[in-house]
Amino acid sequence: MLYRTVPKTGDHLSALGFGCMRLPLTRTHTIDEERAVRQIRYAIDHGVNYLDTAPAYHMGRSEGLVGRALRDEYREKVRIATKLPPWSVKSRQDMEHIIQGQLEKLNTDHIDYYLLHSLAKENWDTLVNLGVLDFLDQAKMSGTILNAGFSFHGDLFTFRTIVDAYDWEFCQVQYNYLDESNQAGTAGLDYANSKRLAVMVMEPLRGGSLAGPVPPQVGEIWNEAPVRRTPAEWGLRFVLDHPEVTVVLSGMNHESQITENIKIAGEAEPGSLSPAELALIARVRDTYRCLMKVECTGCGYCMPCPSGVNIPECFALYNGASMFGNRREYAFHYLTRHGGITGDRSYAGLCRNCGACEKICPQHLPIQALLKEVSDSMEGRTMAARVMALRSGLWIINGAHRCGRIFSGAGKKPVCKTE
Ligand code: SF4
Ligand code: SF4
Repeated sequence: MLYRTVPKTGDHLSALGFGCMRLPLTRTHTIDEERAVRQIRYAIDHGVNYLDTAPAYHMGRSEGLVGRALRDEYREKVRIATKLPPWSVKSRQDMEHIIQGQLEKLNTDHIDYYLLHSLAKENWDTLVNLGVLDFLDQAKMSGTILNAGFSFHGDLFTFRTIVDAYDWEFCQVQYNYLDESNQAGTAGLDYANSKRLAVMVMEPLRGGSLAGPVPPQVGEIWNEAPVRRTPAEWGLRFVLDHPEVTVVLSGMNHESQITENIKIAGEAEPGSLSPAELALIARVRDTYRCLMKVECTGCGYCMPCPSGVNIPECFALYNGASMFGNRREYAFHYLTRHGGITGDRSYAGLCRNCGACEKICPQHLPIQALLKEVSDSMEGRTMAARVMALRSGLWIINGAHRCGRIFSGAGKKPVCKTE
């Protein structure tokens, strides 16, 4: 295992972090606890020293599982990262209450890396107004948390604003060879690095989409490489090639993934990809882009929309569904990220056709028509009702179900609405 250094503290973290959001499941879709504990301990025994969890993962069960996996002296071998869920915070008191519950679940007296979860402009403003920066100061002073950071899914401007607003030790961003100019992107990576923040990368394989099965056109390009690598290995090596990246998080749930990823993270030094290899990756990226429905670069110039539409995010998820064919999974992300869980309502159907965005878009995209296409494809007529129900807590998420969508009846036996 190779290790990378947190610039502000000198802490040495494994280049591979264990993401605990996709742990192995039983046939009844609960965490296969024995197997998950075995996997986590195997990873630690082979050099992984960073575990990433959150209250939102596995419907609140991931943190408890991590706490149990770290018994028997495993706790001392790792840094735990977990997160404050902004959607559960209505007051400063809530923050205290939530973190105390997390310490209990994780069976620890401190959290090594504590993040504000899934920030974008709206929830950032809300948290600041509720006193989150003072909360972080106090938590650090008392030793409850050692390092403060945030995970991010907004636009580049907001990312820079948040980086500048506090003395963070680290941030967590979505980054892979398709998202170089989406969300924080490469510019965000550079900016965080210039401010001496450690960067933890999530979605290095776009939720597994880049790991295969890949579209045939992409497979042909990978086959041209003189070195045989799986699509997953190419994707991970691309991220690890960046010296600005401290830890690459991978949500692993199969033993073969864990051994493969550990091997890659033991070899992939920053800057180790050759120009020819980078050119190959660029061709794969270009091919994926040809399969895209919308040529949006994610620049964010069209934002903010007066009706609240998150235009680049709508296009990014629509493109994802088109490129990878797994429309149901993208429909699920579309619902949760456009107001179901993260931030305010921001889906394409909210567009009121004022036309302001089209005057600004440097790609001259017919945004209004494209948003109509997105809305027809990703939302259906019940979008508003589903967002409202999810926000009100009447529905629960069960991503483990094969349909990957939303169930009704929190606390009751779930009824799948899609069948
Ligand atoms: S045309 Fe629609 S998406 Fe564009 S700014 Fe106006 S309301 Fe927002
Ligand atoms: S301005 Fe155009 S290219 Fe940029 S994010 Fe908006 S729609 Fe995409």
